[in-house]
Amino acid sequence: MPGSITLITGGMFAGKTEELARRIERVRIVSQMGRTERAIVFKPTRDTRRERAGERMDPVRVERPADILPLAEGYTVVGIDEPHFWNEPEEAEEVRRVCLALARGGTEVLVSVLNADFRGRPFLVGGLLFAIATDIVLRNAVCTACGADASFSQRVAGGQDTLQVGNGDAYRPCCVRCFKDPPTA
Ligand SMILES: [Zn+2]
Repeated sequence: MPGSITLITGGMFAGKTEELARRIERVRIVSQMGRTERAIVFKPTRDTRRERAGERMDPVRVERPADILPLAEGYTVVGIDEPHFWNEPEEAEEVRRVCLALARGGTEVLVSVLNADFRGRPFLVGGLLFAIATDIVLRNAVCTACGADASFSQRVAGGQDTLQVGNGDAYRPCCVRCFKDPPTA
């Protein structure tokens, strides 16, 4: 049977990692009941933040996306948390290849990925994964200005780099109306 590629996406503070953790935990609970499902989670070493929800999954940190394949052997469910840190074209392509290879081998792949950068534009890897996903779960945060559903991540501190490893203080969730376009690079 073919596997699947489920994309869990949305802005910052939308609970993407929590949703991934919930699904991984579910698999680990049933595996303790003697079922054959086994789950493992990977994340880029570049993401140095410590998130409670993420750490609960005990993720294996890998330098490159291709490192995932040998380590994923024997697992029926493979989670990838925050692959947008692999944003170089060849890295993003590698994430795509890894997800396809796993799914073709029958693995259930769960990917938690930001919907957009702070400019409201897709990450390269997000676009590639969107195109091969078999299921997409969109989570919204709450707009800190008006309380509506928030799908944008407004950067309120820091520079203009697309990738900025920061704590939650550098961003706040915004709805489509409250989001202000950052200056163009
Ligand atoms: Zn708003």
